[in-house]
Amino acid sequence: MRTAFAAAGLVLLLAACSPGASGPAASSGPVPSATTTPAAGTRGASPAPAEPEKDTPAPPPEPAPPATEPVPAPAEGHDNPARLDVVVNKTRPLKPLDYAPADLRLPAVPLGPGGDAAVVRDATAGAVERMFAAAAADGVPMTLLSGFRSYQTQVSTYQHWVNVNGQAGADRVSARPGYSEHQTGLAVDVGDPDGSCNLSACFGDTAAGQWVARNAHRFGFIVRYQPGQESVTGYAAEPWHLRYVGKDVAADMADRGVEALETYFGLPPAPDYR
Ligand SMILES: [Zn+2]
Repeated sequence: MRTAFAAAGLVLLLAACSPGASGPAASSGPVPSATTTPAAGTRGASPAPAEPEKDTPAPPPEPAPPATEPVPAPAEGHDNPARLDVVVNKTRPLKPLDYAPADLRLPAVPLGPGGDAAVVRDATAGAVERMFAAAAADGVPMTLLSGFRSYQTQVSTYQHWVNVNGQAGADRVSARPGYSEHQTGLAVDVGDPDGSCNLSACFGDTAAGQWVARNAHRFGFIVRYQPGQESVTGYAAEPWHLRYVGKDVAADMADRGVEALETYFGLPPAPDYR
């Protein structure tokens, strides 16, 4: 429906979608195997292993301090759009504002109106395909309505809603440019083949809406905007808007009954723009 993502030329970023974004075990550091304390050490606690072993040129200077470990960007407080734990809301715009992922593709699933432009990041696309297949196997066909939206597309989308509802009204249903989760390539809108409730509150009552509410987490998705969470997420409930966060986070949120991504990550509520 537009040439939006054509400009996804910024191929720098991520060499891939880092499949296992959430590193598994915590202590993966270089196991300090430098414990070559000569058996039956003679002098008790003196920490001086400087025993000139053979003729080795220079004994390794102490067990290298773990200072050169790949510290996972401590300053990144969920604001790196290349990561699955990125959080975008009304107080957390994309950085950069015109960010566009480089690995967009169209999932191989039934498409609804507008779905022909619903490209998403590769990892999201794979999860969408698995989820749609599982839903169909349960007798619940679904359609894909939208995915990535570029900064420029959001300019048009937001302006449309401003024209229809005024700015205050637009802010309740549409994100300002640079503030849309769709711009991450990790969000999708799904629909029911019937289509009469697409992008409407009643989608939650359709078979597709109920299926995703119960099962989306099994595929790494969360229903991002839940009823009663508007003061946290900044948006009215959208039972059709799914955000890919990876299976670990999605399952954990489901287990704990946490409904907002902000709450889960301990981030402040984002009821409105600053
Ligand atoms: Zn959406």
